[in-house]
Amino acid sequence: MLKVEGLNAWYGQAQALFDVSLSVGEGELVVIQGLNGAGKSTLLQSLIGIGTQAQGRITWQNEPIQTWPAHRRARAGLGFVAEDRRLFTGLSVKENLWIAAPSVSSAQVTPAQRFDRVMALFPQLQTMLHRPASQMSGGEQQMLALARTLMTGPRLLLLDEPCEGIAPVLVAAMRDALLQLAREGVAMLVAEQNNILAQHAQRVLVLTSGRMDSAA
Ligand code: ATP
Repeated sequence: MLKVEGLNAWYGQAQALFDVSLSVGEGELVVIQGLNGAGKSTLLQSLIGIGTQAQGRITWQNEPIQTWPAHRRARAGLGFVAEDRRLFTGLSVKENLWIAAPSVSSAQVTPAQRFDRVMALFPQLQTMLHRPASQMSGGEQQMLALARTLMTGPRLLLLDEPCEGIAPVLVAAMRDALLQLAREGVAMLVAEQNNILAQHAQRVLVLTSGRMDSAA
């Protein structure tokens, strides 16, 4: 489904990723671990096509996508949730969700059906639909950021520390929602340091100083 071969990434002159290769199969949950600064965020951002200068081969459903801009990768089914969430903080929960809904329905699922699905997955959000995102807790914002990405109907989620720095009760809700999505066949590549999803992953990869430790 996703195949990455020989990926290198730079910030200016400084190289952050060195010859990284990995793959994520249909419906697979793959976790990337590594210390602060190991390159986890850089890897995810390279895959969605933001933030860094990257070179290498990225194949998504048998198509080379490394020259595609981020919005084209997103439209092709890659969903990215950044560590800093990047919500529209002045907009309500509902507005944040609808702004991400494609204007044209896909053949199978309408935006209204996606909205209902997201509400079922995150009932916590249902009770705060009209609240500005700025007035939510960190964990609630993290759920909203994931929910917003789900409104685009991704086939592969790229998640940067989805359970980091949020209240334990919301960690459990987030983990359960992600595992539910995985059971429904949404593939995931998750960067995390806290071992919440790693214990459920098909594979755990380790990045050390921009290099992949284990065979991917
Ligand atoms: P963390 O868990 O702390 O977010 P990480 O594993 O995600 O760490 P990255 O954020 O990808 O690591 O950082 C990899 C390397 O790239 C580090 O040396 C970092 O200092 C550098 N780096 C990251 N973002 C930038 C940037 N915008 N400009 C310059 N260097 C950067």
